Amino acid sequence: MSAAPRKDAVAMESEVREKIHLEILKRTGAYHANDHILLPSGQHTTEYIEKTLVTTEPSFTEGLGAVIAKHFAPWPVDVVLSTGPAALILSHCVARAHPSRPVVVYGMKGMAGGKRRVSLPVEFQRLIREGSRVLLVEDLVSTGSTIDLLIDLVEQLGAQVVGVGCLWRRTSVELHGKPVFSLVSRDFPTYSQEDCPLCRRGVPLNEEFVRRRNHRRSPSLQDRRGV
Ligand SMILES: [Zn+2]
Repeated sequence: MSAAPRKDAVAMESEVREKIHLEILKRTGAYHANDHILLPSGQHTTEYIEKTLVTTEPSFTEGLGAVIAKHFAPWPVDVVLSTGPAALILSHCVARAHPSRPVVVYGMKGMAGGKRRVSLPVEFQRLIREGSRVLLVEDLVSTGSTIDLLIDLVEQLGAQVVGVGCLWRRTSVELHGKPVFSLVSRDFPTYSQEDCPLCRRGVPLNEEFVRRRNHRRSPSLQDRRGV
């Protein structure tokens, strides 16, 4: 048998797998497609993932976490490092399913001197030390900038990054040459308002997700009581 058909079979298998994962995300209501969507950046696009809905179904999250854990099962892992509190539920599910029984910690994002930075909460600092093997987990990798900063942080502590596991990755993103495993790898074009073909065709713009982000903290308990 030549190598080519085998390669095709592998590619097809991963395509089918990605479709299944995408269907799971659709069932959580997190994935929107075939729309004309305003992104928080001001760009327009046709697809969107609502991060907050990605892990609302415990059995789905556990299943997806197990798939990531299975991929990284051959490598010993001491620590699963979540990119932030938001990816912590998924990180927990990955750690729970990994045969090394790693601990789970998360990084914190912030700004310092006008630059983006990441740090580890003080309580976690003794858990990542020289020689620790760290698996990074993120829900959605869009630009990869948070992951890049976390890889630097881990390496500064003398620990090593085994790889990066995520639910969704925009295919154009390179991550320091580290092994990346994503359940779905998709790239969708984003347009400025001036260059947007959907605007040109007069398709109504869906501003729902940006509006929702801006109003996330309300209504408060007080508002609901009518005080
Ligand atoms: Zn548009």
